Amino acid sequence: MPHVITQSCCSDGSCVYACPVNCIHPSPDEPGFATAEMLYIDPVACVDCGACVSACPVGAIAPDSKLTPEQLPFVELNAAFYPKREGKLPPTSKLAPVLEAPVVHRKSGGPLTVAIVGSGPAAMYAADELLTQPDVRVNVFEKLPTPYGLVRAGVAPDHQHTKRVTELFDTIADKPGFTFFLNTEVGSDLTHDELLRYHHAVLYAVGAPSDRRLDIDGMELPGTATATDLVAWYNGHPEAADLRVDLHTERVVVIGNGNVALDVARILTTDPDALARTDIADHALARLRDSQVREVVVAARRGPAASAFTLPELIGLTSSCDVVLDPADHDSVLAELAEATDPLTRNKLEILSTLGDTTAPVTRPRIRLAYQLTPRRITGDARAAGVEFTVTGGDEVVEISAGLVLTSIGYRGTPIRGLPFDADAAVVPNDGGRVIAGADPVRGSYVAGWIKRGPTGFIGTNKSCAAETVHNLVADYNDGLLADPVHRGAALEHFVRGRRPAVIGTAGWKAIDEAEIARGAGVRPREKFTSVAEMVEVAANAPAPPIHRRVLAALRR
Ligand code: NAP
Repeated sequence: MPHVITQSCCSDGSCVYACPVNCIHPSPDEPGFATAEMLYIDPVACVDCGACVSACPVGAIAPDSKLTPEQLPFVELNAAFYPKREGKLPPTSKLAPVLEAPVVHRKSGGPLTVAIVGSGPAAMYAADELLTQPDVRVNVFEKLPTPYGLVRAGVAPDHQHTKRVTELFDTIADKPGFTFFLNTEVGSDLTHDELLRYHHAVLYAVGAPSDRRLDIDGMELPGTATATDLVAWYNGHPEAADLRVDLHTERVVVIGNGNVALDVARILTTDPDALARTDIADHALARLRDSQVREVVVAARRGPAASAFTLPELIGLTSSCDVVLDPADHDSVLAELAEATDPLTRNKLEILSTLGDTTAPVTRPRIRLAYQLTPRRITGDARAAGVEFTVTGGDEVVEISAGLVLTSIGYRGTPIRGLPFDADAAVVPNDGGRVIAGADPVRGSYVAGWIKRGPTGFIGTNKSCAAETVHNLVADYNDGLLADPVHRGAALEHFVRGRRPAVIGTAGWKAIDEAEIARGAGVRPREKFTSVAEMVEVAANAPAPPIHRRVLAALRR
């Protein structure tokens, strides 16, 4: 009865270190880790101890006897990662190597103090890494009243298992030395230079807050939007709450076929009664209940073997939705399958080859995966009426009618005031997380996550990414390369509250969290607030911790 890793794997890697027999691969120190679509348990070496189950932050691991029917393909998928050995144990019975935690050299002036900007996975993993030692303080600044970035506002609401990683983040936020400054925007409420007066270093983990724009005619028409806007809208991001999403159309076209495109296609075709049991935003649920969408076409410019979505997400999609292919695309799948040698690509193609085709009667909203379509222009006069594509590599033009066109061609980083920016790669130029201007490091400035390496990978990919940055930051601190802060201790709290009276701390966030869970009434995991003003009000009524009371009293004097 070996254990099996399933679709919600976040590649956090904690299971690797928990496993006493090193049977989970690729591990963070192996070359394939950065690009792995998920991690895999070796069914021959697994001793079935369950240590990985407790270590996994997203509940993605179960014994093979306790899988749901939709999870059964993962038994074969885990096993297929390993060579066939006819029952013989592989040479993996040693403890997995554990990454060395950075060792901070204690200094007389006070603790190492780091500001982290952003509160998504890269930020929280960086905080965790820094707080492995006692003599460190971490202050996390977030412009929204709620933390955890794309885990709250990006992970699809029907992927609640993945959102469970927030339990790990809550534990990190409760560590001594950790302080939240939520509802506070660095770059407008506070500047980079001001933060440096209170910290040894500022580490930006702000993600890629914008999206890549498709430069074709018609993108300005009503009825076009980006998939990332739609994701923010259905996840209740306050800045997307007013997005006008008209679902009074039979067909939606999504351009691009990465995991975001699959998320959006799944949400648009899932039964709203099922979504009503998730934390989807109320405004989105109401619109989906009223939706007339019967088909979502996910259009890729290349062929099936080059699909950008990952295998676990394809398995999840095909086990929960009606997914079909055009007969011509079926032929392409079979032709590519005959040529493909890479096991991962073969696996994807094999699943695609089993899909029904578009000639089947439509019994419920369905998803059509379409290939070799390069977008040429959005058609329509007053609003979008469809997309004109050229068949990739030829002159043939194909039009697919649609009342809503979503581009899903990737996220994009945006410049950070006061730091250099590489506009081509849309990242802050860096060397292992140290911000650089040309070849020179920018003193006290660091990056982690998507703003460091671009918008790729999964939640857990940010763990090793953040660890690398923290190692370099601590090395610079130990080498005396970071300036001591001018102000220390409670002065920061006083300063921030002076600039941003509506700053929200951990107590305020907990009040918002508890209120949302209570609004869910046991039927939904939570009912999200989508208005900043409402959240600020809930947070303001939270009992202030003693330090806040002292600062407030000082401010009133
Ligand atoms: P992505 O995986 O980079 O996919 C981008 C898609 O856009 C590709 O199909 C790409 O096609 C297409 N594209 C790019 N430029 C185009 C153009 N000019 N015209 C037409 N198509 C174009 O991006 P994403 O879906 O936004 O995902 C971002 C990251 O988040 C990924 O690492 C993803 O795995 C991760 N993510 C993970 C999950 C999950 O694990 N559940 C969920 C969401 C996101 P080409 O391949 O031909 O360039």
